[in-house]
Amino acid sequence: MKRVYNFSAGPAILPEEVLKEAAAEMLDYQDSGMSVMEMSHRSKTYQQIIDDAESDLRKLLNIPANYKVLFLQGGATLQFSMIPMNLMKNKVADYIISGHWAKKAAEEAEKYGKVNRIASSEDKMFSYIPDVSNLEISPDADYVFMCDNNTIFGTKYYELPNTKGKVLISDASSCFLSEPIDVTKYGIIFAGAQKNVGPAGTVIVIIREDLITKDLENYVPIMLRYDIHAENQSMYNTPPTYGIYLCGKVFKWLLNLGGLEAIHKINVIKANLLYDYLDQSSMFFGTVEKKSRSLMNVCFKSTSPELDEKFIKEAKALGFDNLKGHRSVGGMRASIYNAMPTEGVKALVEFMKEFEGKNRG
Ligand SMILES: *Cc1c(COP(=O)(O)O)cnc(C)c1O
Repeated sequence: MKRVYNFSAGPAILPEEVLKEAAAEMLDYQDSGMSVMEMSHRSKTYQQIIDDAESDLRKLLNIPANYKVLFLQGGATLQFSMIPMNLMKNKVADYIISGHWAKKAAEEAEKYGKVNRIASSEDKMFSYIPDVSNLEISPDADYVFMCDNNTIFGTKYYELPNTKGKVLISDASSCFLSEPIDVTKYGIIFAGAQKNVGPAGTVIVIIREDLITKDLENYVPIMLRYDIHAENQSMYNTPPTYGIYLCGKVFKWLLNLGGLEAIHKINVIKANLLYDYLDQSSMFFGTVEKKSRSLMNVCFKSTSPELDEKFIKEAKALGFDNLKGHRSVGGMRASIYNAMPTEGVKALVEFMKEFEGKNRG
């Protein structure tokens, strides 16, 4: 068996310890005589799994008691619909367009109300985070929507938008649990699991209780109502049981590492290894503004698309997989989520140096 260094943007690398544990428990979970996959979600054994996952997540993020934690399905994308359906009272919302996913979210919300695009970085191919210090917040906006880390373009916020008292909603899919955050600054934080915390199929929603309402349009499907999921502790119907179990293991892995401050330190070290090299290379360069650089998705290019292609091919042959950038950006993207070991990033930088030496014009 040989595992590669997997730089995929998602579904993405998971901690090897977690996968090994899951493998060891595959046929017989804690003397239940069955796999977690085969277990009733109404069983005591499974209840313990989901309860532990929630309480460990609460510990990691220091989630206050007036926030609900929901484990849902439909990916981050379904939240683009659920949010306007459940929160648009005045039928107005403000969106900060910092990348592909925020743009998609705004387009979907437009079906339910008026969307104001209060800032955008599309003018420069989303290579920076717009200035959000003094936004023109709409007086009747039900919320302000942001995407914390832009997976495709490789940018992140270093300061939260000033929403002037309006509810802030964040798509944190690709930076969830990568660093400590102050949950109280947000009304909703949501994340698809497959970037930084587990397998695809689970989406985690952290929502302030006062935003959960029963006063909804009749057309809102029962499965898309936060109140129903909250009342039923994410068990209105069968939840994504195995995904939640694996997320729970990743939460424990993070707690054992020392929590989010500890993983943040490691993430900064890893990102700097790459960015420092890019900044002094004469062949490779980062594609986004320095002050907006993501810690999770590092986008870069070489001096030509032909050389990019050669690099990606040779890297793959050596076990550095999924380095090709998103088709809309080109070049390369190294996603270095929590589970990517520092050695993986070091080895990649060594290979880049070698490649640069050999291919200098
Ligand atoms: C991947 C991603 C999405 C889409 O997630 P799905 O689970 O495929 O719906 C949305 N937002 C961000 C920031 C992402 O990285």
